[in-house]
Amino acid sequence: MEELENLKNNNFTFNKKFGQNFIFDKNLLNAIIEQSGINENDDVLEIGPGAGTLTKVIASKAKKVISYEIDKNLKPILEQNLEKVNNSKIIFADALKTDINEIEKNFEGNYKIVANLPYYITTPLIFKFLKSKKVSSMCIMVQKEVGQRLTAKNNSSEYGAISVVLDFYGEVKILRFVPRQMFVPAPNVDSCVVQIDFNREKYDVSGELFEAIVKSAFSSRRKTLANNLEKDFVISKQEVYEMLKTLNLSEKARGDSLSTEDFVQISKFFDKNGIKSK
Ligand code: SAH
Repeated sequence: MEELENLKNNNFTFNKKFGQNFIFDKNLLNAIIEQSGINENDDVLEIGPGAGTLTKVIASKAKKVISYEIDKNLKPILEQNLEKVNNSKIIFADALKTDINEIEKNFEGNYKIVANLPYYITTPLIFKFLKSKKVSSMCIMVQKEVGQRLTAKNNSSEYGAISVVLDFYGEVKILRFVPRQMFVPAPNVDSCVVQIDFNREKYDVSGELFEAIVKSAFSSRRKTLANNLEKDFVISKQEVYEMLKTLNLSEKARGDSLSTEDFVQISKFFDKNGIKSK
């Protein structure tokens, strides 16, 4: 493998701190891009290009790809590996710390995110880009267990605030499982590729209010919804019980028993009755 050779020739050492687990398998890289649905009209943001193997495949399908890489030691390697690619640009900066407006200056309109991400930034990164109306989809490699949490349904132990919030803003699905041996070096967890297609107009409710209610509902998992909402909003437990009754939900309902649709109904009730956060 040419890219792996380049790493060796440049005496590159993998840095655990940056979650460096690279993919060199061409079949896997092609399959990911194929499933992500990226085409020649798409502008793509990649986070963590590593040796540029995924970057190259994205560039072959997309209009252009802008990649943010934190590790400057990869500069000579990326320059060599992407020498013949003319629709890609690498920016050496921390994608988490860079202001989103700064990142979006690279794109004229909507863009898609594709990334084999370092696992330590998965959740903050999803939340960072969730609210940007310019991101139309995300295709990201995540730890298998995280993928299961992102796609979980109510009444399961994996279900949490992030499952509900993602379901609110779009459609989430696991595209494929990827065993640890596919990475260099192999991490000690398995992975999966998750596709999030945003549809921010899906529900006629303010995202801010929805997120505040969901966060409150999951803030103490063992407490009932009524106890959590009473703590965080200007509403009494009795009023929550009455609301639950009109929505055909149990007084004992908890965050993890409620579906996205239930949270939407609760948000509408809060909105209609002017119930605010404390
Ligand atoms: N996409 C490559 C590399 C994956 S490893 C491949 O599939 O082979 C994760 C990459 O993310 C590494 O190159 C690491 O240096 C980079 N990275 C880690 N934290 C980052 C951050 N905060 N911003 C941008 N890149 C980061």
